[in-house]
Amino acid sequence: MKKIDIKELSSWYRIHHEKRLEERYLTLRQMQPYLAGLSDGFKVKKIGESFERRDIYTLVFGEGKTNLLLWTQMHGNESTGTRALLDLIKFFSDPGTLSWLSSHILQECTIHCIPMLNPDGAEAYTRINAQGIDLNRDVIEKRAIESRLLQKVLKAVNPEYCFNLHDQRTIFSVGPENRPATLSFLAPSVDDRRTLTAGRQETMRVIAAMNEFLQQLIPGSIGRYTDEFYPTATGDNFQKMGHNTILIESGHSKGDYKRKEARRATFMALLEGMRYISTREEKIDHHKYFDIPDNEKKYLDIIIKNVKVDDKDADIGILFIEKLEHGKVRFVPSVDKLTDLSAYSADKILDGKGLDFTDQNDVENWVKNKLN
Ligand SMILES: [Zn+2]
Repeated sequence: MKKIDIKELSSWYRIHHEKRLEERYLTLRQMQPYLAGLSDGFKVKKIGESFERRDIYTLVFGEGKTNLLLWTQMHGNESTGTRALLDLIKFFSDPGTLSWLSSHILQECTIHCIPMLNPDGAEAYTRINAQGIDLNRDVIEKRAIESRLLQKVLKAVNPEYCFNLHDQRTIFSVGPENRPATLSFLAPSVDDRRTLTAGRQETMRVIAAMNEFLQQLIPGSIGRYTDEFYPTATGDNFQKMGHNTILIESGHSKGDYKRKEARRATFMALLEGMRYISTREEKIDHHKYFDIPDNEKKYLDIIIKNVKVDDKDADIGILFIEKLEHGKVRFVPSVDKLTDLSAYSADKILDGKGLDFTDQNDVENWVKNKLN
């Protein structure tokens, strides 16, 4: 099968992607109108309610024999995946010159989506659900109604592939230049020994395909998460149950606090993944997955270099804390590190020559007063 021309897809995206809903704060109420207005090819169904009784939906499209299950905003404040999914819906509604791709995928696959699994967390802009449960650590206990709903759909659909969509913090970096990790992947382990089961190898192949495609768009900005086995994590358990589960973490790129770049990359990753899955004869060497560099934690929002604290040289490392205020996310600077940060990179690097502080408290007060 034909490969996607990244230039053609980029130009489709520039013109046709969903241009509304650009804020990080994305609630059920904001999303609902998009689900209500879809054409016949998209079947939307309410499957239940969250703890605080907000609707949870499935959205199904395609007519193929390979079942895919994709869910977003399992962590309520991680909305980039939902916005990428809205772009994906636009693509399958109006693919333009890429209709060969759209019709091929829809012929081969049936795509089941749960857009916004955690609408209460989305409303409150929290990772957890309204009961304080992290849905991504609740797969065994199933204390949350949202976890039970996800597994009900999993059982009914019996997907061959799952896409588990998240956002990662700005702190994650890739490679020797500490570029921000705009996108990170994981093929979760099924046991402590990180066994390369046939299913896990297949998950790795899909990720390797996505990575190869996206290196053209965001070279050197894609990372790979540790595959340490997490016994209570959703992906690890779904993979263990035989569903090839691809974790995508949308992240930062320089200056892009709305994550527009990560949204575009996530959309393209999903599309290339679906193209690869639909093209059964194509076999990538799964070892290529290991060529993706490890995610590191060497990126900060701001570094202020060359200050003095108690007469000693230091750099100030600042991370933004996201706070929901009047329906908008405010990025509040907070001191994360006070040490030599020459091994780090940041969105903004400032020269603090001449700044003289007595102690950490003094630094924190200054940041609070000057940078807020
Ligand atoms: Zn998450």
